[in-house]
Amino acid sequence: MALDGFHEECGVFGIYGTTDASAHTALGLHALQHRGQEAAGIVSCDDGQFFSHRAFGLVGDNFNSAEVIGGLKGAQAIGHNRYSTAGGATMRNIQPFYADLALGGFALAHNGNLTNAGTLRRQLISRGALFSSTSDTEVIVHLVALSDGQTIEDRVVSALKQVDGAYSLVILTPQSLVGVRDPNGVRPLVLGKVGDAFVLASESCALDILGGDYVRDIAPGEMVVIDAQGVRSMQPFDAVKNRLCIFEYVYFARPDSMVDNKNVYHVRKFIGAELARESGVDADVVVPVPDSGVPAAIGYAEASGVPFDLGIIRNHYVGRTFIEPSDSVRHLGVKLKHNANSAALAGKRVVLVDDSIVRGTTSKKIVTMVREAGAAEVHMRIASPPTTHSCYYGVDTPERSQLLAANHSTEEMAKLIGVDSLAFITIDGLYRAVGEAKRDNTTPQFCDACFSGDYPVPLTDHEAGIGGKQRDLFVREVSS
Ligand code: SF4
Repeated sequence: MALDGFHEECGVFGIYGTTDASAHTALGLHALQHRGQEAAGIVSCDDGQFFSHRAFGLVGDNFNSAEVIGGLKGAQAIGHNRYSTAGGATMRNIQPFYADLALGGFALAHNGNLTNAGTLRRQLISRGALFSSTSDTEVIVHLVALSDGQTIEDRVVSALKQVDGAYSLVILTPQSLVGVRDPNGVRPLVLGKVGDAFVLASESCALDILGGDYVRDIAPGEMVVIDAQGVRSMQPFDAVKNRLCIFEYVYFARPDSMVDNKNVYHVRKFIGAELARESGVDADVVVPVPDSGVPAAIGYAEASGVPFDLGIIRNHYVGRTFIEPSDSVRHLGVKLKHNANSAALAGKRVVLVDDSIVRGTTSKKIVTMVREAGAAEVHMRIASPPTTHSCYYGVDTPERSQLLAANHSTEEMAKLIGVDSLAFITIDGLYRAVGEAKRDNTTPQFCDACFSGDYPVPLTDHEAGIGGKQRDLFVREVSS
């Protein structure tokens, strides 16, 4: 993934029915760390009493002591890894959120983005609601609090019927763990088992780390309630479509995860094979931009017969918070993360495989690096169609004006990046790689709005000019 590209969203995890629920949750969040590195939090419940620990930084830096884990008592817990847009880095926005409601304690963790949260927030404030965060997710808590439903499930359904957007939620109440996926199923959520305990997680890799079993994906628009009686499933929403984010397969999800019952690694290899079929080129070596370009490059190499090699090496120890010590070395930024391996590149005609081009600035630096290492030709192949639109469903993308493909033809982009040739997988090629014959242009099988502009959920706030594009609304804070 280009450094100037998409940024991960969030990861959620919940477990019901084990004595060390918080330790399991910390491990589950650790497996989901790729979905958000800004902050992490866990809320547990023991005999009606809730315990919370939320902090900036990585899971391993914050949930690493018997003191912290031991303080999160109870046999059920939920957790959240957060990635926020600029300006949203405040303690008050770290999830899970917790509130004391009329029916008891209520904790909530959310992956996604609500597209009418700003509109709802204005309405709630005019009714006297006091918001304590700048996150869209808090809108759900207020709507649940104000609902007159007789049970917590009724209240959650009544709240969610008022929100638009993308959400995979895990909710903890004194009696139950609840999981919900929005009616379009934009963000993933899986159900698993670890011994006798039930687990909900953004991806199945969070089950593997616990030695658990994948049971199934939560369906779009499905609500599951897990309590002492077991698992109950409901479909409370009328119009349900399946519009999973297709970019989960290209980049977000871990390659060892199952997403909607498909192995992400295999899909990425199929994408590479489609790329080789659609836009193969005479070359000596196939080189991935690591890590996310690796499976597609393997698939390209296998399908084309061109050997695979590691022509770019990634430094895995670069923290997100690294600050270049002075302006004089700032231009070296890209080399912090990637370095060209001239032993694999010198004199070669190189097929360079990356997952996407967003602004294009990092792609240009990587191509320059590969040429300086002696590559004779550089042919770039991209594992997603041109990114022409922003995401409003929980993924941090630049505004349209900054998206290279929204403003330039492929030929122009090739010149700007400095490659001998550039090709993107076609939208139908991407759909074939995920197991469809082609994109159904009447009712597309996935959300692909950042490539097509076909947004499956109304962009209420954006169209009304309300609030931020992503999770953070109105207030730009530096601390709290
Ligand atoms: Fe995924 Fe793109 Fe849709 Fe956002 S707009 S949910 S990144 S496919």
